[in-house]
Amino acid sequence: MTNEIELLFQDQIHTWPRLARGIEGLARAQTRAVRIDWFEVFIRHIPHRVGSTTAAVDPQSISKRPCFLCAGNLDPEERGIPFSADYTIYFNPFPIVDRHLTIVHREHALQHIAGEFGTMLDLARALPDYFIIYNGPECGASAPDHMHFQAGSRRLFPIEKDTAGIRGAARNYVRNVFVFRDSNRAQLIDSLNRAIESLSEVTNKRPEPLINIALFHRDTEWTVYLFPRGKHRPSVYYTGELTVSPASIDLCGIFVAPLEKDFARISGEDVAAIFEEVTLSDGMFEEVASRL
Ligand SMILES: [Zn+2]
Repeated sequence: MTNEIELLFQDQIHTWPRLARGIEGLARAQTRAVRIDWFEVFIRHIPHRVGSTTAAVDPQSISKRPCFLCAGNLDPEERGIPFSADYTIYFNPFPIVDRHLTIVHREHALQHIAGEFGTMLDLARALPDYFIIYNGPECGASAPDHMHFQAGSRRLFPIEKDTAGIRGAARNYVRNVFVFRDSNRAQLIDSLNRAIESLSEVTNKRPEPLINIALFHRDTEWTVYLFPRGKHRPSVYYTGELTVSPASIDLCGIFVAPLEKDFARISGEDVAAIFEEVTLSDGMFEEVASRL
């Protein structure tokens, strides 16, 4: 699958102008590390992400715009690779990381994780150099009306190194996250479904709790990061102080700043405060941890 993706990339970068512009934009992106406690987060300034960061995702705004993931609305040059019976893998024309992919369901149906963990795990196994992500419909997905995942190169993926050896509830990491590691697919899906159910119960949020998920497959084992969220956007977004809206990739340690003025001044303390604010509160996190 990795080879097929590589061939698609070599074709699309020459034939699809919007992707070519995105790849140029990523090449010009500036990245700097900020230290928080014992780990670092990379702040990445990518102007072409401003549309996603500030996307209006309320039902009224969504109903007014054509869905940009539906096959009929794609750029005419855009090509994909089928994955399973239900999905197609495309390049993301607004990349945050190298080889940024969008994996899109063939039907226009709401973003949801129920019944879809198997697809995520299979994607990770088919693409061992990639991480696979899911952004909940109220947690950073800019197309909450159309089921999709994303993927990207694992070459820059700070959380993998930060959490080496950690299993279960990760603490002292400023963002609350559950880490699952398992080689047994069915058992892992069962654990993840139970975690989602516990989060729904504790946060009283259905059909789905507020979540971001990132995972990868290495050797024979999957590692899954489940970020329970307390809220969608931080208060600094609404006050206009910082135009940032963290989703899975940000929580994994690549923090996107589409505006240059934010990139220049954002500090490790700012990032830590935002992570603490948008992930689930310690009290509820510990309540879920005690049930897992
Ligand atoms: Zn659609």
